[in-house]
Amino acid sequence: STIISSKDVHLSYGNFEALHGITMDFKQNELTALLGPSGCGKSTFLRCINRMNDDIANVEITGKIKFEDQNIYSPKTDLVWLRKEVGMVFQQPTPFPFSVYNNIAYGLKLAGIKDKELIDQRVEESLKQAAIWREIKDDLNKNAQSFSGGQQQRICIARALAVHPKVVLLDEPTSALDPISSSEIEETLLNLKNDFTFIMVTHNLQQASRISDMTAFFMNGDLVEYGTTS
Ligand code: ADP
Ligand code: ADP
Repeated sequence: STIISSKDVHLSYGNFEALHGITMDFKQNELTALLGPSGCGKSTFLRCINRMNDDIANVEITGKIKFEDQNIYSPKTDLVWLRKEVGMVFQQPTPFPFSVYNNIAYGLKLAGIKDKELIDQRVEESLKQAAIWREIKDDLNKNAQSFSGGQQQRICIARALAVHPKVVLLDEPTSALDPISSSEIEETLLNLKNDFTFIMVTHNLQQASRISDMTAFFMNGDLVEYGTTS
């Protein structure tokens, strides 16, 4: 079933229209790759889905994006709720400058989870899902920024998954990483496909063909092709 539905989304940065009317549906438990040349609007569109563009000066967005049955641009939308349901992983690993444990606990506390046992359980579960629990379980009190780039990115994936989002947005999650870390993360995403819906910006056609179910090609702010990856 459809979990995210975008209808005729236009976005302008001041006088420059970066998205010219994007209409597409995302089905639950599918991994969609957003492909296209640099500057074509992939990240801009991705950031519309959890309203990350809202804070940029002079941004104007029209059209509609629904998460399940909720119009996320409705004034009634609670952004804390939205970002709990729709998590995000960025290109550069961006763990906070404190312990691995507290990186994950931070988001859980924002989501209203205060019970210590539940937090411990989510820390373990999410680090397992991100396939880094075994190598990191004795170092949970170490500063998350002291780990390798690939490990930091998996900590960020764990941080995103820990609040149990339904959708996870990934903005070129492997392009800052070495090939081995990159393929480990691809493998991790493949293993999680039954539990989450992923929407991933990438400029890597091979990566899209290895792990995505659906592929969308963007060009100059338009969606020009959208269908099953095969
Ligand atoms: P992609 O992810 O496909 O590389 P982006 O969505 O980042 O493309 O950018 C699409 C277009 O919007 C580009 O022309 C870019 O320069 C412009 N753009 C992106 N962010 C901003 C911003 N904050 N202010 C003004 N223009 C922006
Ligand atoms: P700070 O970074 O502010 O010094 P700490 O990392 O010492 O904070 O811990 C903050 C809270 O997280 C404490 O309640 C602590 O018991 C808990 N905590 C920290 N690390 C772990 C861990 N590895 N396992 C379980 N609880 C932890």
